[in-house]
Amino acid sequence: MKLPMTCFQCFNELNTPQYPLWVEYQDSHLYEFECPNGHKSSTILQQQKLEVLFNIGMHAITDGYYREAVASFASSLERFYEFFIKVKLLHEKIDSSAVDKSWKSVAQQSERQLGAFILFYTQTFNEEPLLLSQSNTKFRNDVIHKGLIPKRQDAIDFGQAVLNVINPIAEKMNTKFKDAILEFTFLLLSSYSGSRSAEWNPSTISSPSLLNVTTRGPDYAPQTVVEGLEHLIKMKNFGTFR
Ligand SMILES: [Zn+2]
Repeated sequence: MKLPMTCFQCFNELNTPQYPLWVEYQDSHLYEFECPNGHKSSTILQQQKLEVLFNIGMHAITDGYYREAVASFASSLERFYEFFIKVKLLHEKIDSSAVDKSWKSVAQQSERQLGAFILFYTQTFNEEPLLLSQSNTKFRNDVIHKGLIPKRQDAIDFGQAVLNVINPIAEKMNTKFKDAILEFTFLLLSSYSGSRSAEWNPSTISSPSLLNVTTRGPDYAPQTVVEGLEHLIKMKNFGTFR
């Protein structure tokens, strides 16, 4: 379960596309790695945490870990609610340090976060949000809290249900909160810039994601989990996946 990265120094010197370097996923957005030619890269991943978690869920399906896939998809949705709430507050011109301080009061309780999301969404779009169905919520709870072992198709269906919740809202956010999303992404990148190793080549990277919540262009076309899995399996067969 690894993330494809590029050595930009190899790319610039050889001027040809390079095989991806596969690095371990990590909680931080800062990835520091060395390519086979000895170039050291210090790269900040632009994708939101929710996208990384969704990618991990996709990898888990290809690796046959379906409980882990469901848990990662469920975490991705929770982090999407966080993304919405924080972007909405930035959009309302609330100072980012105030947002961070207030978030600490809800950070440990996902029900509080869901409540905040539902009300902020309703205030913004004048309608109630589409949420996970009760049967999907029960399925998630059974997997995470009761040790249910899902089948591959169950994990795919659950991932698709999460996508179906996130995608239309992400689409609306892209129109309504465009500037706030940019600001949120800038704050994310800035928060990691200070902890870089000085002698490593600095860069930022945007890794493809099914969700793509921050950089949707006009030609963005949503993909299904099944399509995403086909792409991921091709990627993993390409180059030096270990
Ligand atoms: Zn290199």
